[in-house]
Amino acid sequence: MTDIKSIVSHIRDQADRVSHAVRIMEVCGTHTVSIHRSGLREFLPKNLKLISGPGCPVCVTPTGYIDALVRLSREGCIIASYGDMVRVPGSESSLEMERANGADVRVVGSAEDALALAAENPSQEVIFAAVGFETTTPATADVVIRAKTDDVRNFSALVSHKLVLPAMCALLDSPECAIDGFLCPGHVSVIIGANAYIPITEKYSRPCVVGGFEPEQILLAIDKIVTQIAEHRAEVENAYSFIAGSEPQSYAMKLINQVFEPADSEWRALGTIPDSGLVLKDEFARFDSAKKFDVSMGSCDDPPGCRCGDVIMGIIDPVECPLFGKRCTPLKPVGPCMVSSEGSCQAWYKYGKI
Ligand code: SF4
Repeated sequence: MTDIKSIVSHIRDQADRVSHAVRIMEVCGTHTVSIHRSGLREFLPKNLKLISGPGCPVCVTPTGYIDALVRLSREGCIIASYGDMVRVPGSESSLEMERANGADVRVVGSAEDALALAAENPSQEVIFAAVGFETTTPATADVVIRAKTDDVRNFSALVSHKLVLPAMCALLDSPECAIDGFLCPGHVSVIIGANAYIPITEKYSRPCVVGGFEPEQILLAIDKIVTQIAEHRAEVENAYSFIAGSEPQSYAMKLINQVFEPADSEWRALGTIPDSGLVLKDEFARFDSAKKFDVSMGSCDDPPGCRCGDVIMGIIDPVECPLFGKRCTPLKPVGPCMVSSEGSCQAWYKYGKI
């Protein structure tokens, strides 16, 4: 059994060896929620700060993407979306508001559910809002392949799938970001393999440690990161090796590579990052809602007054946004970071402001 007390003690000892404040970014929203829910920040040394990163798909999806879904819903398409996306504000509306006005917006638990909707509603187009990182992309690829095999004519996907590594590099390239090491997401690492982070350790000299999502697993990963920083090392370590291997998950990667190809992608806060997103290959173009209905998904401005961009980049903590807890709460969210159950603002609001 893991001895949490000795891990915390070791983290403190290692942090004492570092002469500057240590800033560790948890890349993924699942880590953010677990860190806040468990209250583990209380046990960390004062000179160690955890900052939330861009790994919440709802938070980084551009406003223009929501606007495109709103437009398609108004044109009579059935929109099949993961839950949190429905509440994210676009520039003038959200899917939730459109549903209240009569649009057919369905919350689905999987890409497969969206494809099933198309079979149940043969006279209507079903648009699957395909968002997320490497964890959800294989399922999208799978249903697109099946739609092609079965010659489904009323199904397409509005794709905004993103890749974790280019975003991590973009953060390190930004002069505004100060990150000493990364807590890398366990679930994404199952798909891409821990060795995928080697270019970051080599180019940017920042430790990358893959961690699980239980509090003790997170502490273990933090311990490894701080130890590397104290010892002036920058390596990939895998503190989740019983689930995530060093190499990519071959079947999932085969699905992704069969259906998608990399493309420049727009991120909230980070702007356009080269080859940070995925688009459907030409042979699957008829399942691409953007092409089928000629919609674009460009802009990604924050709602007025909202500082989600700065939160996503780890430049400010959510409580530093003037709207936090006042005009912006989980019940009445202004920005996506308060909408999403994996968003930093919602985590800070629900589990305290430590
Ligand atoms: Fe945006 Fe609300 Fe977070 Fe402020 S508190 S950054 S308005 S989501």
